[in-house]
Amino acid sequence: MTPDEFREHGHAMIDWIADYVDDAGSRPVFPDIKPGDIRRQLAEHPPGAPQPFADVIADLEEVIVPGLTQWQHPDFFAWFPSNITYPSILGELMSAGLGINAMAWVTSPAATELETLMLDWMHELLGLPERFRSTSETGGGVIQGTASESTLTAMLAARWRATGGDINASGDTTKLVGYTTSQSHSSIEKGFRIAGIGTDNMRIVPHDEHFAMRPDAFAELVTADLAAGLTPFFVVTSHGTTSSLAFDPTPAIAAVARNHGIWVHVDAAMSGIAALAPEHRWVNDGLDQADSYTTNPHKWMGINFDCNLFWVADRAALIGALSVLPPYLASEAAQSGAAIDYRDWGIPLGRRFRALKLWFSLRTDGVVPVQAMIREHVELTQQLAERVAADRRFDIVAPHPLNLLCISRRADSVDQANAATDALIEAANAAGIGLFTRTVLDGRSVMRISIGARATEAAHVTAMWDRVTEIV
Ligand SMILES: *Cc1c(COP(=O)(O)O)cnc(C)c1O
Repeated sequence: MTPDEFREHGHAMIDWIADYVDDAGSRPVFPDIKPGDIRRQLAEHPPGAPQPFADVIADLEEVIVPGLTQWQHPDFFAWFPSNITYPSILGELMSAGLGINAMAWVTSPAATELETLMLDWMHELLGLPERFRSTSETGGGVIQGTASESTLTAMLAARWRATGGDINASGDTTKLVGYTTSQSHSSIEKGFRIAGIGTDNMRIVPHDEHFAMRPDAFAELVTADLAAGLTPFFVVTSHGTTSSLAFDPTPAIAAVARNHGIWVHVDAAMSGIAALAPEHRWVNDGLDQADSYTTNPHKWMGINFDCNLFWVADRAALIGALSVLPPYLASEAAQSGAAIDYRDWGIPLGRRFRALKLWFSLRTDGVVPVQAMIREHVELTQQLAERVAADRRFDIVAPHPLNLLCISRRADSVDQANAATDALIEAANAAGIGLFTRTVLDGRSVMRISIGARATEAAHVTAMWDRVTEIV
């Protein structure tokens, strides 16, 4: 592709994207296809000669896009949202165009310094405790790809601290035990596996009727593990679980953890962003006692995937766990402590310039439209809850303080209710009413209605529930 062709196709592609985003609701939210249908329509072998870019775009339009789940669709009520905004898309494009690698300060000083500043901007906008600010004595933040990576990273820092900074010789990791609930995200268990702690040493703390961790049960497990000669080292609390948006009581958990030097990591991947609206700052309860915290601008906020924020109160533990310094990466700036090398704050060496999309978004759109969207989605969820509560065919099975409603069909037995709920989810998806996902809460089948796509407005939720009640 020549520079002139790049200009021509690039301008056209921006127009294409703008039309696509404006028109997010025009396609089926989930494609009517079977596994293998897409590949069958594409060339089996790489082309022998260059093809016109227009041919590639034609295939994109005819084969790829119709085969996508439409995450930006207003009837997308599945999983959690993965919103985008125009400045964020442009930030992503600019990051590709600048073609830098943000692994260390010396590999692109401005990328590192903008990243640190964006963490502090978000720190301020979310109202986080002082201990996480990069200007604090010991804390700081970093942009990671995903919450999964942040949780693993936190676990590695906790492991380093619990083993006295030596995970090789004297540091015995076989005695380490960590804690979470059955409601926490799958990435927590994955972290226990990857970090070498193993799932045998992952304790599932019982939860209460609201799917939140029970502090008394946590304290009992810790006492039992200590009596057995084990070393409790890590607990993950969720501020908004993936199944039901349950909130673990971090202040009470941290009070127990503190007595035993247990690292408290708070996973607020979805709901942490609610704190952009000051009246929802309760989602931050207990963060002033947490060792690390993570939330995802790439879900509700509209910073396109991937963009995860991770903060630690004790950056020395993180860097201790992850820093390896070969001579070809050493720099005077970092070794003197004057500059940050983010390669020491996460798993990969090479790092994308993700700070740009936050910077573009926060400077042009700002947070006011995000606050308005958060407020509207919470309000729509509460209005929907009122309609569901008035319908004797349904139960609301979990608290819904924010933007997720978990509902089940009512029936004479749990088995019948589960079958009816599963059938309803399948029928609603098949009829294209929206895209919904299922979960299971204490043995009950649940239809999750996650109201978080940027395009979702009151009329979409009203129409969705009208149609669901027609097919029930
Ligand atoms: C979405 C989610 C995750 C995983 O997020 P990734 O960024 O995809 O790794 C983890 N925890 C919770 C509570 C989530 O909602």
